[in-house]
Amino acid sequence: MTTDCIIIGGGLIGMLTARELALAGLSVTVVERGRAGAEASWAGGGILSPLYPWRYGDAVSALAQWSQERYQALSEALAEESGVDPQWTRSGLLMLGAAQACEAATWAARFGAEIERLDAPATTQCEPALTAVQTDALWMPRVAQVRNPRLVKALRGSIVHAGVTLKEDTPVTDLLLDHGQIRGVRTAAGTISAPRVVIAGGAWSAALVAATGVEIAVEPVRGQMIVFDARPGLLRHVVMHEGRYLIPRRDGHVLAGSTLEYVGFDKSTTDTALAELRAVACRLVPELARFDIERQWSGLRPGSPAGVPFIGAIEAVDGLFVNAGHFRNGVVLAPASVRLLADLVLGRRPILDPAPYRPSTPRPGEGLAATAQFRTKTL
Ligand SMILES: Cc1cc2nc3c(=O)[nH]c(=O)nc-3n(C[C@H](O)[C@H](O)[C@H](O)COP(=O)(O)OP(=O)(O)OC[C@H]3O[C@@H](n4cnc5c(N)ncnc54)[C@H](O)[C@@H]3O)c2cc1C
Repeated sequence: MTTDCIIIGGGLIGMLTARELALAGLSVTVVERGRAGAEASWAGGGILSPLYPWRYGDAVSALAQWSQERYQALSEALAEESGVDPQWTRSGLLMLGAAQACEAATWAARFGAEIERLDAPATTQCEPALTAVQTDALWMPRVAQVRNPRLVKALRGSIVHAGVTLKEDTPVTDLLLDHGQIRGVRTAAGTISAPRVVIAGGAWSAALVAATGVEIAVEPVRGQMIVFDARPGLLRHVVMHEGRYLIPRRDGHVLAGSTLEYVGFDKSTTDTALAELRAVACRLVPELARFDIERQWSGLRPGSPAGVPFIGAIEAVDGLFVNAGHFRNGVVLAPASVRLLADLVLGRRPILDPAPYRPSTPRPGEGLAATAQFRTKTL
């Protein structure tokens, strides 16, 4: 089988990359080891902003800003193409505590973001469900969310509609290389030929890239979440406190997340995380204690130094590209990330300066000490 471009990995990044390239006229095949959109992209919370965005470097802020401006339109287009509504909702982000108000204000002025400081009464007025909380807060009214399982389902429908060939239950076992040129991939079900291949394997991407002798610092970072079967309207906004967050869905479900665990490719869930997330949620919103926890799950984020994804050509191999390492922000960064990658694949003028994302560019957080510091900072 021959195609213009193979995408390895049918997560949000792989499928959105496929949509972008198919809309540009390429024949595209997505090769997915399991079911499309069943890994990190399904498991995520869908908050369309980095958490504490001023703690990230400009490379992450630039991708986030580009994407945020286009997410509502993307969500509407996907709903139309697939019949599944990803439920883009501008629910705002309320971050309890205002110790970093100055850093936040400086960052907001640079990126044109809206951040307001609320005193304790204004915080409770903004989110009446916080009956046990007496604190000031930073409020970002323009932050939106999507519902991940719906987003990936919509995207799956959309790429099939756009003529993308989707091969599920088909692990890629090898890259086919010939004198520094990519020729395609070997899968459990035979080979597929293509002059271009994009690695979008999420947390599993480093091993795929390593087959070319190139290293990218992408590692799995487990996140566990729980969901309360709560009542609609109980919580109005996404609420964050000390790295934990609550996300209200339109139907009343409230998600509580998430852990940040460096435990390799272990996707199991733990009673400790369940108890901790439940305790945090009920401390913030006591009424949640009345509702059942419907489900607990985990996903493996594609962790990267400073959270800067690897987007661009693997220079050692003609025709081979990567789009991976979006860490905690893959949902919000996806539209800009895939547009940039498509620009590079197609030789178009890129939407953003590609230099910070090049696989060969050293990341600001690279090196053990810096990575450890970033891990702590983003907790
Ligand atoms: C608990 C949690 C909460 C999160 N919350 C948010 C949030 O609120 N906002 C936000 O922006 N981001 C959030 N994220 C991060 C976001 O979900 C990820 O950054 C994003 O989904 C990564 O997408 P991906 O397509 O790169 O990876 P994935 O969705 O993991 O997809 C990679 C795919 O590649 C496939 N694959 C791997 N190897 C092979 C192979 N050899 N052959 C074929 N297929 C292969 C896998 O099976 C998988 O389907 C969260 C993540 C988690 C886990």
